[in-house]
Amino acid sequence: KAKQTGRNKVCLYNGSLHQETQKKALLEQDIHQALALNQFTVHYQPQICARTLKVKGVEALVRWQHPTQGMLSPIMFLELAEELNLIGDIGQWVLHSACHQLKHWQRQYHLNDDLLSMSVNLSTFQLQDINLLSLVSDALASCDLSPSCLELEITESSIIHSPENIVERLNELTQQGVKLSLDDFGTGYSSIKHLHLFPIHSLKVDKSFIAAYKQKKSQDKVLEAMIKFAKYLGLSVIAEGVETAEQLAFCQAQGCDLIQGYYYSKPISAIDFEAKYLIK
Ligand code: C2E
Ligand code: MG
Ligand code: MG
Ligand code: MG
Repeated sequence: KAKQTGRNKVCLYNGSLHQETQKKALLEQDIHQALALNQFTVHYQPQICARTLKVKGVEALVRWQHPTQGMLSPIMFLELAEELNLIGDIGQWVLHSACHQLKHWQRQYHLNDDLLSMSVNLSTFQLQDINLLSLVSDALASCDLSPSCLELEITESSIIHSPENIVERLNELTQQGVKLSLDDFGTGYSSIKHLHLFPIHSLKVDKSFIAAYKQKKSQDKVLEAMIKFAKYLGLSVIAEGVETAEQLAFCQAQGCDLIQGYYYSKPISAIDFEAKYLIK
């Protein structure tokens, strides 16, 4: 009997492995056409001022509306897109969409530049692209959006192995008025060095620290210290993954500037964002 169970287990394992491989092959086939078929879409998650609870910013998060697999999360396809050299095109598409969306909202609802900012994630590939500056400038110019409205989110893992001229390039970007934030801070290769080497405007405390809140006292101390440290360096602090009122209260008490998370809102479509936060 034991042997049979064992064999079944092996079969099940093989079955799911097979399914995974099949699914990946299917997505690989489809992703080449996805941009041309207009299957990508951007969802928007509000970033809330911790003091006033007003929406101050919004993060653009890409999704793939797959014809048979439904709405796919970026973790399902970004790696594949990277492997297939499609990540640059997708990234540029997201950047354009997000900039145009914000410009549309500014016009429609008479929003000043400093009322709502747009955050867009940059992949390692985009960060290393020597044309980054002109790609970003093109996106801004194509919709006449002010650079100060755009915040680009980069991760430490994408800058850690970067040649020095990336610092140069990022400096050029921020000199134009674009802001930079360090995403997923505290995971991977956190290094204090990055914070003064790169022209970072804000730091996004990774959601794992927020999720662990009140589970281990020593970890809360780390979270507290991280926030204090960032504030001391004059950085704006964004807490991501805030899901409960308790977490919100803690982040407020620690002096976080912005809050992002399911407690306030999940990422939603542009139409829903507009209805919920812009139509008065
Ligand atoms: P990220 O930039 O750190 O984005 C935050 C992720 O956390 C999003 O997942 C968001 O939906 C999720 N999140 C927000 N609030 C909460 C919360 O309260 N609880 C939990 N559990 N999760 C929360 P999403 O949309 O699946 O994106 C995953 C990652 O994919 C992003 O992490 C980012 O690294 C990457 N990504 C998304 N869009 C793009 C893009 O356009 N370009 C690039 N290069 N990467 C992107
Ligand atoms: Mg992000
Ligand atoms: Mg993050
Ligand atoms: Mg992430």
